[in-house]
Amino acid sequence: MNLASLPPLRESLAAAGLLAKKSFGQHFLLDLNVTRKIARLAGPLEGETVLEVGPGPGGLTRALLDAGARVVAVEKDRRFAPLLEELSAHAHGRLTVIEADALELASDAIPPTPVIVANLPYNVATPLLVGWLTGPLRPKSMTLMFQKEVADRIVAAPGSKDYGRLSVLAQTLCEAHVVLDLPARAFTPPPKVASAVVRLDPRPRRPPAAAVEALQRVTAAAFGQRRKMLRSSLKALGGEKLAAAVGLDPTLRAEDVTVAQYLALATRLVAAGAGA
Ligand code: SAM
Repeated sequence: MNLASLPPLRESLAAAGLLAKKSFGQHFLLDLNVTRKIARLAGPLEGETVLEVGPGPGGLTRALLDAGARVVAVEKDRRFAPLLEELSAHAHGRLTVIEADALELASDAIPPTPVIVANLPYNVATPLLVGWLTGPLRPKSMTLMFQKEVADRIVAAPGSKDYGRLSVLAQTLCEAHVVLDLPARAFTPPPKVASAVVRLDPRPRRPPAAAVEALQRVTAAAFGQRRKMLRSSLKALGGEKLAAAVGLDPTLRAEDVTVAQYLALATRLVAAGAGA
């Protein structure tokens, strides 16, 4: 792979006459120093299979290939096909492009346990993350660009205003850290908000599927009425009795309950359902 022999991204985009489409959440990273930095933060990538959603003109894809990865790139906007074909020709069989909507892609179209790296389209970033956290793909790690506000929600600690369902789900299943902040001007065209890259590394011991499903029910109920006490917000799931069974004060509110305590509630709910 020789990045240097490819034309600069800005030139490739201009030559193809491509303008960003707002409806596809297109904000491009055209500075290869930035995309190389993201690839490093996702690394080591030598010999890894990387799933990239939304390669667009291919700036991040170039950096991933340069870091030695095999890349499966899923792009919905077919206008980028010629640019990605050109990149593929330089990649000696290490780049596969799938033209599809990543939200609708069957998991068997993607190699198992990929490393996922993407500058995500903001309008579908959260459903994609939830699908990767809870679905069959079981990524090895995820290094993902979100709008800053979503990144803050993923890594939020109890007691903060950003702490919510996404924080609990992500942190139950993964270690999650913001590894890079990027201002809007780093993108072409610049979005209205700042962005951040979050790295998520799955925890070695994953809770059983039933507990993950119950966790989503518990957090939906608790944060659905986040100002209410658990005894009231969790009423339909056992309220005071459920909280007491895991040693939790039922007068706590959703944002005061730790990630481990939510998992305890979910595990208890599963056990209660099984007649324990
Ligand atoms: N990776 C490129 C970069 O960093 O310059 C482009 C990132 S841009 C924020 C998001 C990309 O995702 C666009 O190329 C867009 O066409 C693509 N995209 C949007 N929705 C998509 C979807 N549902 N499935 C696959 N790709 C999608």
